[in-house]
Amino acid sequence: QGEKVMTADIPAQMLTETAETVLRRRYYLKDQEGNPIETWETLCRRVADAVAEAGERPANFEELRRLFFEMIYRMDFLPNSPCLMNAGTDLGQLSACFVLPVPDSMDGIFSAIRNGALVHKTGGGTGYSFSRLRSKNASVRSTQGVASGPLSFAAVFDAATETIKQGGKRRGANMGVLRIDHPDILDFIVAKQDQEKFNNFNFSVAITDAFMTALAEDGEYDLIEPATGDTIRSLKARDVFEQIVDLAWLNGEPGVLFIDAANQGNPTPQLGLFEATNPCGEQWLLPYESCNLGSINLARFVADGAIDYRRLEETVHTATVFLDNVIDCNRFPIPEIEEMTLKTRKIGLGIMGMHDMLIQLGIPYGSEFGRKTAAEVMQFIHDAAEAESMRIAEKKGAFPAYDASVNDYPARRNAALTSIQPTGTVSMIADCASGCEPYFSIVMIKHVMDGDRLILINKYFEQVARAEGFYSEELMHKVADSGTVIGHSEIPEKWQEIFRTAQDISPDDHIKMQGILQKSGVDSSISKTINLPGTATRADVKHSYILGYNLGCKGLTVYRDGSRDSQVLNTKERS
Ligand code: ADP
Repeated sequence: QGEKVMTADIPAQMLTETAETVLRRRYYLKDQEGNPIETWETLCRRVADAVAEAGERPANFEELRRLFFEMIYRMDFLPNSPCLMNAGTDLGQLSACFVLPVPDSMDGIFSAIRNGALVHKTGGGTGYSFSRLRSKNASVRSTQGVASGPLSFAAVFDAATETIKQGGKRRGANMGVLRIDHPDILDFIVAKQDQEKFNNFNFSVAITDAFMTALAEDGEYDLIEPATGDTIRSLKARDVFEQIVDLAWLNGEPGVLFIDAANQGNPTPQLGLFEATNPCGEQWLLPYESCNLGSINLARFVADGAIDYRRLEETVHTATVFLDNVIDCNRFPIPEIEEMTLKTRKIGLGIMGMHDMLIQLGIPYGSEFGRKTAAEVMQFIHDAAEAESMRIAEKKGAFPAYDASVNDYPARRNAALTSIQPTGTVSMIADCASGCEPYFSIVMIKHVMDGDRLILINKYFEQVARAEGFYSEELMHKVADSGTVIGHSEIPEKWQEIFRTAQDISPDDHIKMQGILQKSGVDSSISKTINLPGTATRADVKHSYILGYNLGCKGLTVYRDGSRDSQVLNTKERS
């Protein structure tokens, strides 16, 4: 159902109206007048051909381009937006994620702004750590003046981003990170309270294990001047943590990153330490590293009520070859990024449609079994990607920075394989739940022109409701009005459980899902929102952060229902 046959052996998934609109607006190449000159099929061929070619045309070029085409055309796997937009074009920049260093010098800071501008122009997102910058009012020897501090420089990064509209396709997106032991941390925590400021940034505090220990012991911790290494003063960990909690409760920012957990998973510590992530937090990268992402659409891997592991394995193998090839046909914005990226050859293979998969299997997202199933699938994807990466290493060599003395895994082609990205736009193309998130709504009423109301019903829910005979217009309106399937006696309990949405799932269950996925084969990190009800207290936020930390998450983003009108990235894309 919902599939049309294009050629004898490739059933294509039909594009939804939303998908077609998004593609026409931002993905299809356009002629001089701005009219789209592509279709989904020709776009997929452009991407598949460019990535199969990767440098010198390989002997198995024909087979590769066919495999790549089929996988993308059917939406079993979609690469990140820059790849879909730019592959096979003159721009040719295919990666979504970059981290750029911000050294503590005028030259360093303004070079970073320039480099970031070049990345944004090509559709990439940038992460910066401002932790190396000397604090506000620290002395500047050359001018005998005082420094303006990380925040005033961050404002310049923000203004630069505002100015570059990225060819109308994407606005720039940044992550700004400051360590919890930076002397300006208190200013940083409240910086985004002013809603006019830093609108092109997500801000996150990099929290250390030392801080968490001080917090647990209700003790103090030191603020350290980065320029000199001097201890400036000590603060009570609890006071600072409560500030973060207050602000996150108020409007979801700052987020928290657990920087020591991330560095424990650093595959190449000899090259440097992680200081920052990309804008949505799923990629910890070294300064000047970039990473290209792609996501397996799990909605497409359930057959006869079970996960089709054989087809999933084949797809992961092909996707791994695809993402590794992307590195070789990528046009990097600056030489430093090219050099670093080629040393580690990181890729970010992720998932989307995880909730679709669980619904098709009849398993509630927030249940123990839901987590177990998700974890099994993620581990399977990791292991299959690793097997393929090792095979590529045998043919083409391991990533150049591979050092058996540091790494406890066999030589492979890519220093990192997996992450879970938000898939904000690509999941709209594939018509599935984004990343590892549960659906946000099951029935929604959309107001269109002339006072007309359009009712949007989750495709699985409609199917079940009709098949089991509880479908009625009246019920759909009731579900839309209450915003949940819970508590409607017409809907059998089983389905109420399966169709719980992001707000119906408890915060602890959200965090436990993130925690178990992190431990089940996710090399880098996970972009996930922990939804809290509007009535959640500050203590609930605090509890969430501590639970996330204890479960081994590498970062956490909470969002209390109704606390913010718009979010920086993905919800804006959706509206
Ligand atoms: P998509 O679905 O468009 O491929 P995701 O929502 O999965 O993208 O985001 C993945 C990463 O892409 C983000 O973490 C960020 O690094 C980058 N990104 C997302 N949106 C933007 C944007 N508007 N501008 C620049 N980079 C972006």
